[in-house]
Amino acid sequence: MNRPCQSVRILGVRVDDVTMAEALALMEGMVASGQPHQVVTVNAEFVMRAQRDEAFRVVLEEAHLALPDGYGLLWAARRLGRPLRERVAGSDIVPRLAALAAQRGYRPFLLGAGPGVAEKAAKVLVRQNPGLQIAGTYAGSPAREEEEAIVARIVAAQPDMLFVAYGAPAQDFWIHRNLRRLGVPLCMGVGGTLDFIAGVAPRAPLWMREHGLEWLYRLIRQPWRWRRMLALPRFALAVGRECRALRRRSR
Ligand code: UDP
Repeated sequence: MNRPCQSVRILGVRVDDVTMAEALALMEGMVASGQPHQVVTVNAEFVMRAQRDEAFRVVLEEAHLALPDGYGLLWAARRLGRPLRERVAGSDIVPRLAALAAQRGYRPFLLGAGPGVAEKAAKVLVRQNPGLQIAGTYAGSPAREEEEAIVARIVAAQPDMLFVAYGAPAQDFWIHRNLRRLGVPLCMGVGGTLDFIAGVAPRAPLWMREHGLEWLYRLIRQPWRWRRMLALPRFALAVGRECRALRRRSR
């Protein structure tokens, strides 16, 4: 695909250097095109997983848009001398896409999260965006035996946007496997976003988000994340190694 934006490679993983406004414009173009597209929300955990999981690396590489979702990426890009301009988090862009959908008559489908959460999130989005039409909501699960039925349900609903909340990397694999037959122009894995919108999980306060501390807030609230979050110090060490290698090569 001809990429309409500049990208930065962090430990070999592509991250697109888009601002929030540019990302929204690109995503609107995807919906208008009618062709299926996958958007991924890259963070340090994604980058570290891609180092050891070739299939996940392929999913990220083939995505039509790789948003710079995590602050760790901005830090790493700066250190590597190829700064990214802005953090564009999936959780911040979904409410904006809902507003766009209400304006343009696009219909989103909310898939995943716990029982009843997608319905609750849909109600909140409709309250915030009068006139918004929701194509459908369904919790389901990323289990293979449910896949056919879920795909059929979404195809029948004919949404313009599909937000999948099965957690990474399951949600991104799920979209990648089904993108063509879903035929939905804009498909994006959204992690905990439906929980935040529905109000069943609080998002980190703004000051923490602005200081790159969202990971700490989530760790305090969900301590079981500690093992996954070991990816963060490993990411920092790997970026440090890459910086040193770059300096040696440029000498
Ligand atoms: N989730 C789900 N089914 C699963 C695994 C996760 O519906 O098999 C949902 C979970 O309820 C939550 C969302 O996926 O709403 C995101 O999970 P998590 O916070 O772990 O994802 P992250 O934001 O860290 O990618």
